[in-house]
Amino acid sequence: MTTTAITNIASLVTNDPSLCADSPLGPIQDAAVVIEGDRVVWTGESSKAPATDNAVDAGGRAMIPGFVDSHSHLVFAGDRTEEFNARMSGRAYSAGGIRTTVAATRAATDEELAANVARYLAEALRQGTTTFETKSGYGLTVEDEARALRIAARHTEEVTYLGAHIVSPDYADDPAGYVDLVTGAMLDACAPYARWIDVFCEKGAFDGDQARAILTAGIAKGLHPRVHANQLGHGPGVQLAVELDAASADHCTHLTDADVDALAQGSTVATLLPGAEFSTRATWPDARRILDAGVTVALSTDCNPGSSFTSSMPFCIALAVRDMGMTPDEALWSATAGGAAALRRTDIGRIAPGARADLVLLDAPSHVHLAYRPGVPLVHAVWQRGERVV
Ligand SMILES: [Zn+2]
Repeated sequence: MTTTAITNIASLVTNDPSLCADSPLGPIQDAAVVIEGDRVVWTGESSKAPATDNAVDAGGRAMIPGFVDSHSHLVFAGDRTEEFNARMSGRAYSAGGIRTTVAATRAATDEELAANVARYLAEALRQGTTTFETKSGYGLTVEDEARALRIAARHTEEVTYLGAHIVSPDYADDPAGYVDLVTGAMLDACAPYARWIDVFCEKGAFDGDQARAILTAGIAKGLHPRVHANQLGHGPGVQLAVELDAASADHCTHLTDADVDALAQGSTVATLLPGAEFSTRATWPDARRILDAGVTVALSTDCNPGSSFTSSMPFCIALAVRDMGMTPDEALWSATAGGAAALRRTDIGRIAPGARADLVLLDAPSHVHLAYRPGVPLVHAVWQRGERVV
């Protein structure tokens, strides 16, 4: 296999804590990275780089691990421009929210859905995202949920069954019947395509008992749990996630002290999704409070057509720094290593020997520019599995 050295990196973020006592980012100045096949095989000071078959001059730019976007909803059709416009213009809007997307998604062909996923993935890749998780949840029938997961599974191994996004409009008068479907025939049809099971545990969606039944049924089928928890108000989602050892509790916007304690004592990652608060003008999650309690935090886009239609991890980093009390270092860690932790992965989210060669070169001397220069397209080059793709 050929080896390639990327040299003349002004600052390299490795996320290898053994390299630096002061920072979990494990930074190396004037660095080089050597890749072989789809793996990183060496990191260190540029002057000490071993001989390789090929060399790439990074031109004094900063390099970071590819972003790990651990929460998105990309299998959908249609958009909700008018709903967003009305919300941001202070006008009432009476369309059906998620139901609008469910109707458009059901009406779309397989090809249309697949083309949409490919388009948003390409968009994310250009912005440095090399791993993403995505969910079903806009089909809400056995066939439509299984179809969404089948399409998603062609693009990522991080596929999540979210039949329990909302109670299907077809079961508006029989939510218990819908839970039976989600934990029965729909689960049977979906489990072969999914690694994860998720539930929207919130007032107006699924309560704690329903969420527990749904997650437990998924676990019995070999899926691992993650939970949409405490986005719109206080509720049982976060503590249920920790109790079931979910990989992550996502949103975590409204937390009691007991919720924060549970997260700090468990191994469930708190995934914060600032695009959702931005796009709905909602209260920001208090990242500072969670971090200071010792909780592992991930940042993710929640890319979806209703409440957070951004695929940009740099944008989320900028929001987290500006409005959620995170330092630039914490925000970058959460968007890379934190995302990997939220997917229980150790091969991504870091640049170290053995890790997947998912690398992002920034048109900037430091990763701090991601928050310092918000909205500026700073991604200069991307390697995914050792292959230069941007
Ligand atoms: Zn979501």
